[in-house]
Amino acid sequence: MRFQQDHTAHSVPQSSKRLVELAARVAELEAERAMTLRLAQTDSLTGLVNRGAFSSGLCERLDAHAGDGHTALFIIDLDRFKSLNDSLGHHAGDLLLAELGRRLRADAGPGEMIARLGGDEFALVSHDADVAARAERLVAVLSQQHVIYGRAVSPGGSVGVAVFPADAQNAADLQHFADMALYRAKSSGGRRWSRFDAALRDESERRRTLEDELRRAIPAGEIEPWFQPIIESMTGRMVGVEVLARWRHPAKGLLAPAAFVPMAEELGLIREIDEAVFEAACARTAPWVAEGLIESVACNVSPHDLLDPAFSRKLIGRLAKTALPATALTVEITETFLLKDLALSRRHIERLAAKGVNVALDDFGTGYSNLRALMHLPIQTVKLDRSLIDDVGRDSRVSRLVASMLQAARSLGVRIVAEGVETEGQALFLRSAGCERMQGYFFARPMPADAMEAMLREQETPTPRLAAVG
Ligand code: C2E
Ligand code: CA
Ligand code: CA
Repeated sequence: MRFQQDHTAHSVPQSSKRLVELAARVAELEAERAMTLRLAQTDSLTGLVNRGAFSSGLCERLDAHAGDGHTALFIIDLDRFKSLNDSLGHHAGDLLLAELGRRLRADAGPGEMIARLGGDEFALVSHDADVAARAERLVAVLSQQHVIYGRAVSPGGSVGVAVFPADAQNAADLQHFADMALYRAKSSGGRRWSRFDAALRDESERRRTLEDELRRAIPAGEIEPWFQPIIESMTGRMVGVEVLARWRHPAKGLLAPAAFVPMAEELGLIREIDEAVFEAACARTAPWVAEGLIESVACNVSPHDLLDPAFSRKLIGRLAKTALPATALTVEITETFLLKDLALSRRHIERLAAKGVNVALDDFGTGYSNLRALMHLPIQTVKLDRSLIDDVGRDSRVSRLVASMLQAARSLGVRIVAEGVETEGQALFLRSAGCERMQGYFFARPMPADAMEAMLREQETPTPRLAAVG
């Protein structure tokens, strides 16, 4: 062997020797490149295929199996990963994901591709014809126990399945449909699997139609501001309005935000809606403020808007183009967002407050209700959520809670607006407990601008303070 090598080395001319060396170097580089490529395609935590490689792998498989067609996509999501991660720590969470990755791989059949899509989401691509049996097996693997830091944990998981070409004819639809099925499996309790079917297809078509209609509705001016008065408890006067969006749908009639705001948030259309509503509302209400009919106009903003670091600057810019004074505007921010990104919230709130814009905390009492967080922010108003007001005067514990919240707010110099006041009993209780402002069906339901203006004009005289100004 050794002799042969030496012999070869001696017998080839110098140039051929260099060629051999070159070939060896090329092979080395190619191996390196393959390694880099493999690493780029691999999820480092689990060693499974990563999201990028999964997408291209899925497309390749669909192309390859277009003729003999049967490719099932299973999307897998752990049911209780977040709470395990929170209670045991991120490192334990990582161990769990790595272990689960190993088990999924060990369970995989020939020709199957398993990927980690990110977080606690995995995917399996299989050509196994028995979709139900394969899904059952996945759910069983997900339900197994793991021992992490000596503790037995069993997060359980849900699976959504869609099949090519029976359910979907391309990779994007296949993923979308498997996701819809996963969502259904999770929302019916988890630890189960669900396959895309006719009911989900109907839902998906309904959503697509709604999406098209919504995109068209915004430039067509079909989204309009409605108004609900805010009442001063001591005098019973309407001192402000809250702007509430309505969609005047050409076929379905008037739609409340619940029918389109969540969809608009998902599609990234909420900003356009909020801007359109804001502009129309400012145009209508600026004269009411100028005449002293009301003091303030409250607008809702979506948490999605607030995630934009430029949100407050843009809002101030848009406000300057209207005739509404900054001091007459209240921006309602939900408490859940505030606590999600306290630093960003603070920046927005301080920027708005510096211009004289009032910031109100909306839906207070549904989240963590952290009055102490409020102390450090220039928030002047808190809106007590309807869920609390509902039980006021009926449930003595809630009544006491609301009364003590009102007291705490007063001591912090924060004004409280009670939302969803529906009965005289609630109104009387809230007034006697020192709640300054109220809003709800007991006083008036949301209404179109013309009706709101007529109602405001029926109040005999403008409020004395504003009469002096305006
Ligand atoms: P929200 O800001 O908490 O608004 C109060 C909601 O309670 C309104 O529902 C209002 O009609 C309703 N309401 C008022 N008084 C009563 C009452 O006495 N009883 C009951 N049962 N309900 C009452 P609406 O108009 O359906 O709005 C729902 C939510 O949609 C709003 O909740 C707000 O979060 C959102 N929203 C409304 N307009 C806009 C908008 O222009 N932009 C954004 N981003 N969100 C909006
Ligand atoms: Ca609100
Ligand atoms: Ca609210």
